[in-house]
Amino acid sequence: MKELVVISGKGGTGKTSIVASLAVLAKRAVLVDCDVDAADLHLVLEPRVVRREDFVSGGKARVMPGHCTACGKCEELCRFDAIYFDGPGNGRVARTFRVDRLACEGCGVCVDFCDERAIEFRPEVCGQWFVSETRCGPMVHARLGVAAENSGKLVTQLRKVSQEVARSKGLELIICDGSPGIGCPVIASLTGASLALLVVEPTISGLHDFERIAQLCRRLGVPGLMAVNKSDLNAEMADRLEAAARRCGIEPIGRVPYDPEVTRAQVACRSVVETSGGPAARAIAAIWRPVEGRLRSCAASEAAGLVQLRAK
Ligand code: SF4
Ligand code: SF4
Repeated sequence: MKELVVISGKGGTGKTSIVASLAVLAKRAVLVDCDVDAADLHLVLEPRVVRREDFVSGGKARVMPGHCTACGKCEELCRFDAIYFDGPGNGRVARTFRVDRLACEGCGVCVDFCDERAIEFRPEVCGQWFVSETRCGPMVHARLGVAAENSGKLVTQLRKVSQEVARSKGLELIICDGSPGIGCPVIASLTGASLALLVVEPTISGLHDFERIAQLCRRLGVPGLMAVNKSDLNAEMADRLEAAARRCGIEPIGRVPYDPEVTRAQVACRSVVETSGGPAARAIAAIWRPVEGRLRSCAASEAAGLVQLRAK
């Protein structure tokens, strides 16, 4: 089984539009939306949910007013200023402390240091994850609750479920819409993947983001390819991006020009390769060929590695 992760280093590069097109071109793949903080692949693929599960993670502190002596130690120790002196009284003290659940980061320090054991800490339902059917194949996706954290853990859960779905349906490819940035969710998206496709925009910040994400791929040992989206907006910067990619050992495989057909397709809840034969659609189809070729060679080298391992 191969996992292609499409990443961008930042939001707004058109990564998800390209993922939706690749999903159509791949024909038989499991799709997984690991951009859990701003999931939007479902807007194009119109999933029909067939399985729905709660995502339980982390926890939030809660002061039990009946046990609190209002010593104030928890307020002092909370680095996130999540504890306030405005809880109800309890017969011994006029007021107790209270946790602001939106501000609480779930570090657990207050729980450990409360001598009265007056703070409880329970795992929380932070959102839901889904397995759905789409016109392009099964899709695994999620919805995080308001102000919910632990999205790296959710990404890991989604990838695990997508692998189970791929196995159960006999599908050999997973296409993952990776998280933006270089933090925990994108590390969770990339770790152990077969191949990363870096979708970048031709701007100074695009170059900066590319360098950060390329470094992350190198550290995680994930081979990468790069495509410049809306490349004609700044051809000189597209050249610089491609030169930077070569220096990092990442192969530039194409440029997708700005094309209003991409937006028209989105409005119609379709990918551009389904609605148009225009420049963006043709460029994405041209990008898919080297991606597919590289995935095949990953599979071949994995198989050769397995044979060698068995022979030892
Ligand atoms: S440390 Fe415990 S007892 Fe002290 S104020 Fe906080 S919750 Fe109350
Ligand atoms: S768990 Fe951490 S962040 Fe939450 S209230 Fe306690 S000390 Fe503050």
